[in-house]
Amino acid sequence: MREMKKHKQFVKSLKIGVGLIALVFVTGFMLWDVNRSDLGANTAGSSSELVIGTDPGFKPFEYKEGSQTVGFDIDLAREIAMDQNKTLRVEEMAFDGLLLALQSGRIDLAVAGMTKTPDRAKNVDFSQAYYSAAQMIIVKKGSEIRSEADLVGKKIGVQLGTTGDILAHKIFKAEVVQLPQTASVMQELNSGRIDAAIMDNGPAMQYLANNPKLEMLPEKLTDEDYAIAIRKGNKKLLQQVNKSLSAMKKDGRYEKLVKKYFGDATK
Ligand code: GLN
Repeated sequence: MREMKKHKQFVKSLKIGVGLIALVFVTGFMLWDVNRSDLGANTAGSSSELVIGTDPGFKPFEYKEGSQTVGFDIDLAREIAMDQNKTLRVEEMAFDGLLLALQSGRIDLAVAGMTKTPDRAKNVDFSQAYYSAAQMIIVKKGSEIRSEADLVGKKIGVQLGTTGDILAHKIFKAEVVQLPQTASVMQELNSGRIDAAIMDNGPAMQYLANNPKLEMLPEKLTDEDYAIAIRKGNKKLLQQVNKSLSAMKKDGRYEKLVKKYFGDATK
């Protein structure tokens, strides 16, 4: 009987002991983690690297030139990295995966012509705005679709996870075709498998320049601001990014980039 009691007590204290050790570890990890984000540590790369995530195929903001990813956003991010004495590393991924990559620490920043929206801001922080954009309707020349109202019940192509995607889902009885890349949305439109596409004005202009059979309707569906997404709570990096953006807007670097990529809209 006494032996049983002893044994029970032993098991009990063992449980408490294991519990305490676990508690120490968990608290320790939490403190370590808080400390790291306080310091603005980049979980993505080494301290000499700024790692951005982007989805090329969004000319002139990000696109491929041979094996290189180039564009307005890439140059902008390189300036931000340089202001921090860091080198820039670009990680390519689907637009749809950017916020998760940011949250998991695979990348430090998402720089991808990303519109600042209240929904996204629940999961990530946004820098100050760096570009004004709009959603536009693209159709085949001669299409009967002339405005947003004509989209009711139509087959609309969008890039998965974009603001165009969200917008298309609000159109009455529309069938939304979600594709991973904007280029494939344009292909579908060209081949007549969709009736219209909704996408950002900048890249739309670029596609139109190479697709004489397509046209963009004049009506703007939205007014949006592009901003850089940052992991929530990474306050130091958020401040650094905002500081760089403000400085670039003042010292002419920003304007130089606008001229380089938008000087000739058909380029
Ligand atoms: N601006 C749009 C959005 O944020 C599309 C961005 C993109 O496709 N790269 O959803």
